[in-house]
Amino acid sequence: MNHHRHTQCFASYSVVNLLRSLCRPRAAFFSAALMTLVSFSAQSASSGVSFSAIKTAQSAGSLEAMAVAGGEWTTIRKLAHTAILVKHPQGDLLYDTGIGTEVAEQMKAFNIFDQQLFKVEEHVPAIEQLSRESYSLTQLNAVVVGHMHWDHVSALEDFMGVPVWTNEAALAEARAGKPPGFVQSQFDDPNINWQFKALNSGEYMGFKLSLDVYGDGSVVLVDISGHADGHQGMFINLQDGRRYFFIGDTTWTLKGIEQNRSRPVFVQWLTGVDKDVEKNAAVIDHVHKLTQKFPDLVVVPAHDERVLETLPRYPEFSH
Ligand SMILES: [Zn+2]
Repeated sequence: MNHHRHTQCFASYSVVNLLRSLCRPRAAFFSAALMTLVSFSAQSASSGVSFSAIKTAQSAGSLEAMAVAGGEWTTIRKLAHTAILVKHPQGDLLYDTGIGTEVAEQMKAFNIFDQQLFKVEEHVPAIEQLSRESYSLTQLNAVVVGHMHWDHVSALEDFMGVPVWTNEAALAEARAGKPPGFVQSQFDDPNINWQFKALNSGEYMGFKLSLDVYGDGSVVLVDISGHADGHQGMFINLQDGRRYFFIGDTTWTLKGIEQNRSRPVFVQWLTGVDKDVEKNAAVIDHVHKLTQKFPDLVVVPAHDERVLETLPRYPEFSH
C-alpha cells in the first residue's frame, strides 16, 4: 500500500486485530488558546441567519472501526456526503459541495479498488435539489471550500460562475495531489472564479485564524488545517443561541470528538489520509475541549450520518 495516498477511506478491508492502538493527540498547540477563550454567548449573533443540510449521497457501507479508533467492527455506517446551505440577508453561502453531477466521469480517475471503496448510493447532487426548489444561484455569494478532497469538491463545477472561497495552501495541495484524494478534473476549469479569502478577523474560540463572514458573528470560518492544508471549519451562531461547528473531515464521526481519538492508525498507514496527523490530532483535542466547555455546541463532522439526522434537511431550514 502506498503511504501517500490521500483517501477518505472507510469500507471493507478485512483488516483485523492490527494496530488498534490510538494516535493520542498532542494538545500543546491549542491549550494556551483555550485558556483565553471568550465566551461566545457574549457575542450576540443577529441578522436572521439560517442553514440547511443538503445530503447529496452516502457511502455504500463502511465499518465503523475503519472510521475512528475504537469504533465497532460490527457496526456498519452509511457515511454521508453533505453540502451546507447558509442563508443570510447579505447573501448565501454553500459550505462544501458534496457529490456532483459528474461523479461517474470523475471516478474514472480511480483504480478499480478505489472505485469500489468509494462507491456512493442515493446520489442526488446539490444543484439538482436546489433547482427543484427554484433556488436562484444569484442568491449565492460563494461556495466555501472546506477542503479540496474529491468527495467535498465533486460538485464545484456544477456551480460555475459562483465565487469559490479557498486559500493558496489548499489549492496548492490539491493541484499537486493525486487520486483518490484529489481529482484534477473537478477543479481544472479555467473559468472557476477562485477567491482567496484571508482569515483575518483574529482569534475565535481558540482558533488563531478566523473570518467573521458577515461581520455580525453569525458565520465564522476558522482554520483547522491538519487533515488537509488550508482546511476550514465553520461556526454558525443562530439568533436563538443555538450554535453549530462544522468541522469538515477533522474526524469522520462524532465519536472521534467525544472520545478525543484520531482515525485508526492502520487506516493512516493504509491510506495516509491526513496531511499532518499530529496537527489534526491537536485540532481534535481542541474541539473535544470546546464541547466540554460548551455542552450545547453541536459539532458536525462532514460525514457523520447520525449527526446529519439531527439537522434541518433541505428544503427545510433552521429558524
Ligand atoms: Zn478529506
